[in-house]
Amino acid sequence: LSERLSGVFERLTKQGALSEEDVKTALREVRVALLEADVSLPVARDFVKAVQEKATGQAVTKSVTPGQQVVKIVHDELRHVLAGDDDAPGELKIDNPPAPILMVGLQGSGKTTTTGKLAKRLKEKHGKRVLMASLDIYRPAAMDQLAVLGAQIGVDTLPIVKGQSAVDIAKRAKQQATMGGYDVYLLDTAGRLHIDDTLMGEVEAVRNVVSPRETLLVVDGLTGQDAVNVAENFDEKIGISGVVLTRMDGDGRGGAALSMRAVTGKPIKFVGLGEKMDALETFEPDRIAGRILGMGDIVALVEKAQEVVEAEQAERMMKRFQKGRFNMNDMKTQLEQMLQMGGMEGVMSMLPGMGKMAKQVQDAGFDDKTIKRQIAMIQSMTKLERANPQILQASRKKRIAAGSGMEVSDLNKLLKMQRQMADMMKKMGKMGKGGMLKQAMK
Ligand code: GDP
Ligand code: MG
Repeated sequence: LSERLSGVFERLTKQGALSEEDVKTALREVRVALLEADVSLPVARDFVKAVQEKATGQAVTKSVTPGQQVVKIVHDELRHVLAGDDDAPGELKIDNPPAPILMVGLQGSGKTTTTGKLAKRLKEKHGKRVLMASLDIYRPAAMDQLAVLGAQIGVDTLPIVKGQSAVDIAKRAKQQATMGGYDVYLLDTAGRLHIDDTLMGEVEAVRNVVSPRETLLVVDGLTGQDAVNVAENFDEKIGISGVVLTRMDGDGRGGAALSMRAVTGKPIKFVGLGEKMDALETFEPDRIAGRILGMGDIVALVEKAQEVVEAEQAERMMKRFQKGRFNMNDMKTQLEQMLQMGGMEGVMSMLPGMGKMAKQVQDAGFDDKTIKRQIAMIQSMTKLERANPQILQASRKKRIAAGSGMEVSDLNKLLKMQRQMADMMKKMGKMGKGGMLKQAMK
């Protein structure tokens, strides 16, 4: 998506309000990208429509391109759909002990692992007494797997009794949880490779016996389209209260999250980020939205630019740049903006693929301290000198260096930089574009 959208950036360089045409062009790419990230077709279609309505006619912040602005709107909408009105994704209904939590999903989705992770979290973060029980009567090793996890994290598991049905085990778990004074009991159900009636019938029977406070659907985040069918099916037949997305440590694009949220309307509560017992995190819509967009932190950069760059000033500078003017006053403004945005390093670290360059810049000694010194040198110049840095000869240079506590060689470096910038601006002006930030974002 990143490449697609940078293509869009280049085509959308006009400034001003977002025209319908601008938005349409950008959204065509966004739609394809969503599909590539495994978002289902109807969800992608609705999504794009919602963004189109929001974006058309919106004013473009002066320092970013319309394409970037569209990305921001897309991101915000993604976040909105992903989060819904769920303002506490990691919260579970676990009052009225013992609270039953039913874990459902296909085989291999990560149910048993997630059961262990959740138990650990409830125990350590919420100070709950937790009991776990495996209802997987089909795979002989499944019950042992949960028992081993229990021992590892110090959470009790229901003693294994061979030959019982899933419903019988559920009843026993309920009884033990009540008598043993547990706050929560987690029921890890069996899965199948595909949804079938036997599986659903069994889970339904278990549900009827324990009346779970939470029924969490565990879904492999790497599966795309399929995940939506699974979610729809489980929700229809069993009724789910939330979703846990596993394997989000893998390189899946997270499109399943968006589809599932949009189709079921059920909150995504947690994401699994590895095989270890502490690799479970509260769902963060921002992070997944960024991942679906695959844009590095361009959105964050746009937001910062909106905060920092005063629109008027930016426009004035833009006009100067287009004429190829770039004197020490402009240099000072740019340096100051850079500082406000977290220094050169901060700016670059937000751009995809620029991490390495940021390090080079840092190694070259272009850090906040250097930027501040450069500003100090500019401040030691007279008005005339700032506007016409080419008049600086030896005696003026000596005075400025002394006035700012720097060496003439430092000042020469600054002057060289200013000349390079002026050259660059001249070239950019010829291309009909302006703004250092915009150029940097390509
Ligand atoms: P179940 O059949 O649904 O109970 O699935 P399991 O809990 O047995 O998990 C199947 C495999 O997926 C195991 O090897 C787990 O270690 C692995 N797994 C589960 N959750 C995650 C996760 O969030 N990230 C990664 N990388 N692996 C996971
Ligand atoms: Mg299992």
